[in-house]
Amino acid sequence: MSIDLAFDREHIWHPYTSMIDPLPVYPVVAAEGCELILENGQRLVDGTASWWSAVHGYRHPVLDQALTEQLSQMAHVMFGGITHPQAVTLCKQLLAITPASLTKVFLADSGSIAVEVAIKMALQYWQGMGNTDKTELISLRKGYHGDTFAAMAVCDPVDSMHSMFARLLPKHHFLPAPTCSYDQEYPAHSTAPLRQLLEQRHSKIAALLLEPIVQGYGGMRFYHPSYLAECRALCDEFDVLLIADEIATGFGRTGSLFACEKATIAADILCLGKALTGGYLTMAATLCTDQVALGVSQSEAGGLMHGPTFMANPLACAVANASVGLIQAGHWQQQVPAIEAQLRAELAACQASPLVKEVRVLGAIGVLEMHQSVDVAKLQQHFVGDGVWIRPFNRLIYLMPPFIISPEQISRLCWSMRRAVLG
Ligand SMILES: *Cc1c(COP(=O)(O)O)cnc(C)c1O
Repeated sequence: MSIDLAFDREHIWHPYTSMIDPLPVYPVVAAEGCELILENGQRLVDGTASWWSAVHGYRHPVLDQALTEQLSQMAHVMFGGITHPQAVTLCKQLLAITPASLTKVFLADSGSIAVEVAIKMALQYWQGMGNTDKTELISLRKGYHGDTFAAMAVCDPVDSMHSMFARLLPKHHFLPAPTCSYDQEYPAHSTAPLRQLLEQRHSKIAALLLEPIVQGYGGMRFYHPSYLAECRALCDEFDVLLIADEIATGFGRTGSLFACEKATIAADILCLGKALTGGYLTMAATLCTDQVALGVSQSEAGGLMHGPTFMANPLACAVANASVGLIQAGHWQQQVPAIEAQLRAELAACQASPLVKEVRVLGAIGVLEMHQSVDVAKLQQHFVGDGVWIRPFNRLIYLMPPFIISPEQISRLCWSMRRAVLG
């Protein structure tokens, strides 16, 4: 059975692509461990973990078994008026590994939806508390929170789809992207713009929504934990909720189980996704405090107004339970720092390239920020030729491999990246 690439090109949308002039796609027929297997038998070392999600690699026996066992019980059942063991176990696990102040869990069907739910929670909370003025949000420039409309409205207003949909998007407030680097001395007054905005407008502001420490698709930028700690303090001072979008950073990626831990803070609302199911199925979660849940439940609607058809899908819950179990076993605590050290050592040489603006590494994330936008199709051809799978975009060539990657596999990824920028 060969993959009909002509049909694909003619009829199937891929992420962010044109139907008239799509970029080439590579036919993958299988994947195992840290490798993707192309139709022609070629194996590619995976540098992407399928967009942050496949942290345990592909075809992990524990995850495969969890899914197979659940399949013999039931694939799906509605969550309205029904509960099931996998959902209960998963929510118990999530509450056990997140801050004690987070006590309620909403199981959403994707990261973008988890962000939509977080925003609804914040708006319904203030409504329920009798404060109908607090309807505006604050987020950071260079942020990314998903592709649905409410999520889009809090993404970077320049680099996202704002201009295209400007008339349809609610107007929120954007702070300058933090410039206080993760590993440099923290410049005082970094959060002055937030303080200023809150002093002027706090009575209208429902929540500050941000990606803690790592701004992902908006630029792969790493900012200082003190910035996050000060944001938390300012939210408390001005009575504004803090929503942490840990969809990319959660489950060990930055070297901490959650990025908020680097600033020893807890958000009022927390979004999780991507690695939640180990990259097997689509599922995300929005957690909140007792206080938020109370406000939401007192709001006009009398409950949280969201309920997707596939909410808490048992297959997704089962594989998430297995994935979170593997995270709790703790191997990532050795794997991620080892990946970090090797990426630092083997990507450093790229700094010598005139094409490269900056090399950055944090946890199991390695980034080359280029001066110019890259030619994605040409670079991918180079990478596939070298036996690696790396998916650049805009001015970024970056790695976020599965945590199970071997030192030899990391070396292959870094070698190919060095060749791409140094020739
Ligand atoms: C990927 C991502 C999302 C959106 O998740 P989807 O599952 O793609 O909808 C939201 N926020 C952050 C920080 C992300 O990285």
